[in-house]
Parts: sequence; structure tokens; C-alpha cells
Amino acid sequence: MQIAVIGGGASGLFAALNAAWQGGHVTLFERNATLGRKLLVTGSGRCNLSNDQVGASRYTCEDQSWMESLLALYGVPALTETFHSIGIPTHKTWDGWHYPQSDSAHSLVKALSHAVQAAGVHMHTSCQVLDLTLLEKGFRVVFLQQGNQQSQDFDKVIVASGGKAYPTLGTKGELFPVLARLGHSVRPIHPALAPVLAELGPLKSLQGVRLDLGVELSQANTPVAHAAGNMIFTEWGLNGPAVMDISHHIPEQPGDVWEISLNLLHYVEADFNGLLSQKRQTPFPANLLLSAFFPPKVVQCYLSLAGIPEDAPLNSLDEQSLDQLIDRLNSTRLKVTGVRGYKYCQASSGGVPVSEVYPTTLESRIHPGLHLTGETLDVVGPCGGFNLHFAFASGALAGKATAQSPER
Ligand SMILES: Cc1cc2nc3c(=O)[nH]c(=O)nc-3n(C[C@H](O)[C@H](O)[C@H](O)COP(=O)(O)OP(=O)(O)OC[C@H]3O[C@@H](n4cnc5c(N)ncnc54)[C@H](O)[C@@H]3O)c2cc1C
Repeated sequence: MQIAVIGGGASGLFAALNAAWQGGHVTLFERNATLGRKLLVTGSGRCNLSNDQVGASRYTCEDQSWMESLLALYGVPALTETFHSIGIPTHKTWDGWHYPQSDSAHSLVKALSHAVQAAGVHMHTSCQVLDLTLLEKGFRVVFLQQGNQQSQDFDKVIVASGGKAYPTLGTKGELFPVLARLGHSVRPIHPALAPVLAELGPLKSLQGVRLDLGVELSQANTPVAHAAGNMIFTEWGLNGPAVMDISHHIPEQPGDVWEISLNLLHYVEADFNGLLSQKRQTPFPANLLLSAFFPPKVVQCYLSLAGIPEDAPLNSLDEQSLDQLIDRLNSTRLKVTGVRGYKYCQASSGGVPVSEVYPTTLESRIHPGLHLTGETLDVVGPCGGFNLHFAFASGALAGKATAQSPER
């Protein structure tokens, strides 16, 4: 069984490894000179490779049951066992984010590259795949190597060429038109896990401030998505997991009707209310109430928004001023003007809908022998290791499947 894997990223490396372990003759095509270049920058160089919360409901894709079937076959234990078996022990943080024990994406890529080589995978690096055509039996891969256009025939092909995020790392999405020509639907590609462009208005003074909070995205006052987590105010808007997780819902031209609402009390509401009721009838200064939960810039900004002097004693405030402060803390709405582009986002949404491949083998329902994995599929998970988990899992299942079935 001659198997081509297109793409030497997370998904392609797991596909190649698993196909070779099953006895397949595997050739891996990668446009970069080295394997796993994007993996090197993941998790800020630590590679957040999975998460205890991995489950179908955490992914945006058209069919949750499809994702359930896939994850039932390749969940967190299967992934971490595979990593252990190739010399990459893993650990997790208190909140369930998994990393290599070394906390080094570099060591993970080194070990993974070694494993692929040791499994006998034939490597074509610095090699850009240009086209994929159907033969009567099998597929022809057309590629460019050292300026020469060449081709090679295979029984099976796994397309693991990723999406369009971070094009400088090799992912430019040029194989989507090829997949479309082969009869697959390709949903429009958009930046996902992207920083959000927003008009900060009265919150401009918070640039550089980092907070844990809840966010809600709405279109014409109708909620579209919500998330919670860490966020930082920047000169152009908002960044960090809380807003990145909902960014794929924001259209390219949002017009005037898209807003993001920030809830600073999301994680601290009960404690905030407790302290407030304890001190409400005392001369405890308003700024000390807020300082118990938020950094100084936030305290200043929100008191000024509510028109409350910083050292105003709580027992001097009327109910209206206090309500205004709490309303602001619960929900400050900012106009969303877009998202930062592919250069700055961690993933892309869109691509081939999951309904066009089988969840247990990632094999195309249109062309037997063709498998699509990772970000070529229209799947987006939140920050926290979900996207790498999907890339590894889909690659592993496709790799196993290609080598197992005797013919197309
Ligand atoms: C800065 C950053 C940080 C991230 N951090 C995390 C994290 O901590 N945890 C997490 O879960 N996710 C993270 N992600 C997302 C994660 O990296 C991706 O979801 C994942 O890499 C997708 O895997 P993939 O194999 O589908 O695609 P990729 O990893 O993008 O691999 C695709 C490969 O195909 C190659 N290729 C493309 N076209 C061709 C062609 N025509 N010919 C030959 N080769 C080709 C590319 O060069 C690339 O090597 C991060 C992403 C970025 C950009």
C-alpha cells in the first residue's frame, strides 16, 4: 500500500506515523525544509497538545455526533499513550491543559520527527504539492521540488495540509481549490482564534490590562456566542483566549451591529456581592471595594464611568449610582469592527464539511482512498489544546485506516 501524506504538521505527522506502524509505505510531503514548524510555536513554545475537557460539544462543526464518533476512538488517553510510546511523556496543569513533560514544543517536534523517521516514512521536505488527480486506481500527486515539477502515484492519499492561519509557517490553503475540483464542498475560510478589533471608547485607558472575565458576542442585540477566560486590552481591541474563542463568528465586514459585552464579575460575582453587602452601610471607600477584585486601572476607569468619586464612602452612595456601577461591571458593550487577519490568528474556520468524510477513518465519502484531516476540515475548537487534539486524532485515525484496508 503506497500512501502519500500531504503536510508535515500535527495531523500529517500522526497520519504518517500511524500508517507506517500498520505496515504502509508512506511518503510525506512538506513544503517547509523541516517538519512541524507550526507545532514549534504552539502554546507559546510549550505546545498545549490536548485538554481534559476534549469532547464533541466543545468544537464548532456541523455535526456533533460525527465528532463524538471520532473522539470515542481517539480521546485524551489514546493521544497521551501514543506520545508516551514515542518518548514524549506529558503532564497537565491544574485546569486540565496537557503539555509535553519538558514544556518544550521543540523537544516534542524533535521526538516526533525521530519517530516518523524510525517508522520508515519517506520524507519529501522543501516540497510543495501543487495538485492531486484521480487515476483509474489510486491518485497522482504533482509536486514542486528544487524548482522541478514532478509527480508520483499512490494507492491512497491523506491531505493534512492545514488551513490558512499563519501563512508564514507554510499554510496558505492552496489545496482547497484542488479538493473543490475533486468534488468536495469547501466552506469559505475565515480567521479563527483571532484577536478582535473593537472600539474601546471609554475603556481606552485599559490598554495593557489583563483580566479573567466573561464575554458575549451579539449581532443586532441577539446573542451569538459567549465564552470566558483571560483577555487583554490592546491598542486595536481585545486579545486572549476569551475573545479568540468566539472570533470565528465575526464576519469580515461586521458593519454597525456587532458588539462584544464584557462581564468583569463573571468569575467573582458571589465574592463581590458578599463584600459589598458587608460594607454597604459603612464608610468603606468605593475604590477599595473594586481594588479587592481588579487592578488599579480598572478601578479608576469603572468608577469614573459610573460617575463615582474614587474615595466615596459606600454608605454615601445612592442606589442609582451603585446600580450603574454594577451594570457597567456586568456588561460594558463595545463595537466590534473585525478580527485581525491570518497573520495573527491561530486557526482558520471553513474548509471541507465533516459530513463529507467518515468520522472513524476520515475517508472521503466521494473518493474512497482519499482522507482529509486536521484543519482542512471545517472544525474549530477553543483555545486550550482542542485544535491540536483534533489534528492529532484525525491524523492518527486516517493513518491507521489507510494502511488497514487492502484496496481503494
Ligand atoms: C501561534 C499559534 C499557536 C497555537 N497554539 C496552539 C496550542 O497551544 N494548542 C492547540 O491545540 N492549537 C494551537 N494552535 C492551532 C494548531 O497549531 C493547529 O490547529 C494545528 O497545527 C492544525 O494542524 P494541521 O496538521 O491540520 O495543520 P498544520 O499544523 O498547519 O500543518 C499543515 C502542514 O502542511 C504543510 N503544507 C500546506 N500546504 C502544503 C502543500 N501544498 N504542499 C506541502 N505541504 C503543505 C504546511 O507547511 C504545514 O506544515 C496554534 C496555532 C498557532 C498559529
